Amino acid sequence: MGGKSVRTGDFVVIEKNNNQWKGIIIQVGRNLITLKLKSGYNIGIRVDNKTKIEKTIGEKIEKHKPVKFELKFDKTKPLVSILSAGGTIASSIDYKTGAISSSYPAEQLVNTVPELVNFANIKTEKILEEMSENLIPKDWKKIANSVFKELKESEGVIITHGTDTLSYTSSMLSFMLRNLNKPVVVTFAQKSSDRGSSDASMNLICSTITATKNLAEVVVVGHGTVSDDYCLINRGTKVRKMHSSQRNTFRPINTYPIGKVYPSEKVEFLSKYRKKEEVKEEPYLDDKIEEKVAIIKVYPGINPEIVDFYVDKGYKGLILEGTGLGHVNTGEISMLPQIKRAIEQGVIVGMTTQTIYGRVNPYIYSPARVLSNLGVIYLEDLLPETAYTKLMWVLGHTQNKEEVKEMMLKDVAGEFNKRLQPNQFLY
Ligand code: GLU
Repeated sequence: MGGKSVRTGDFVVIEKNNNQWKGIIIQVGRNLITLKLKSGYNIGIRVDNKTKIEKTIGEKIEKHKPVKFELKFDKTKPLVSILSAGGTIASSIDYKTGAISSSYPAEQLVNTVPELVNFANIKTEKILEEMSENLIPKDWKKIANSVFKELKESEGVIITHGTDTLSYTSSMLSFMLRNLNKPVVVTFAQKSSDRGSSDASMNLICSTITATKNLAEVVVVGHGTVSDDYCLINRGTKVRKMHSSQRNTFRPINTYPIGKVYPSEKVEFLSKYRKKEEVKEEPYLDDKIEEKVAIIKVYPGINPEIVDFYVDKGYKGLILEGTGLGHVNTGEISMLPQIKRAIEQGVIVGMTTQTIYGRVNPYIYSPARVLSNLGVIYLEDLLPETAYTKLMWVLGHTQNKEEVKEMMLKDVAGEFNKRLQPNQFLY
């Protein structure tokens, strides 16, 4: 029996793969039923033609003991750690008020997606309980430290994270986790995990599969399309949230995805990536950063004094999100005097583009050449967010102008692509 003949509010007994759950249906999705168990836990059960669903009456459930999904260690499978850092994936909906609220422990996430145990033994830990717009640089250090610790024991680590600032975290982790020799997967959901239509379960399944593969990079895994067909594996330094609400929001920028991962366990690798055996040296954590770095978006009518503000506040680095090929206002209102002053005071100024796709180039228009001659570092095809986390990380190691420039332009974690291909645009 499929899920079609039952409705929200029905008391049911569901049987699948020798498991039995009893509870009240709180949501019926296309192939997923979300059940509130007597224990108070919610569980999402994927319905297929082997799933038996029987309607029952509430009183019967009262007589049964609470059903709780228990994790048993399977020696034939690898260990994967899931660390929860917050965001929608770790939120649940209050069915009385309809509001999304509080935290949803990682352990409960696993109860919601019992299929994960088909791929790995799962260990869970909550490290943060924040919507990602609230994260600050010290949280990136905390996440990096927790991941590094888990990697000693686990074959792969998954971080569940809010989508809004996920790519800042994934890029910072890419810099902080040196000689990484296992997969670190950052994943997310656009709808809270206890909703039948949530994207959380497929993203977690795809992330768990990815975390068991021969991959030695920080990657972002999540829906590749608006359907539940496959997830994309994207490099942590070349990925961005490109839609405010669609589930396939994370797109590769200026590159192809590393691969596609299907919930059936199939993985297709589409471009070059680092394998475990390529890492010869010991992994280590390098979380030294300089927090006094800012991003400035350039736009018509900008007040150039914003640059002075940061310089006077003691900032050590500025990333400009310039227009087009990497330009700033040089007309009636000009940012040149302020940028010149910033550089003279020892501030590192890097240029990226607000077009997001493409590469900056100081050699086409003369004002950009002026900026470059002043000492603005043109950061090739780096995303502004990646340039920001990288500059923090680089300045955490050296504040010598020449060394900073050299490190900023050196590929540390797959953040540059020398040859952009036309079909990488809007992939
Ligand atoms: N703004 C929240 C965050 O980024 C919710 C968005 C989400 O998780 O998708 O954490």
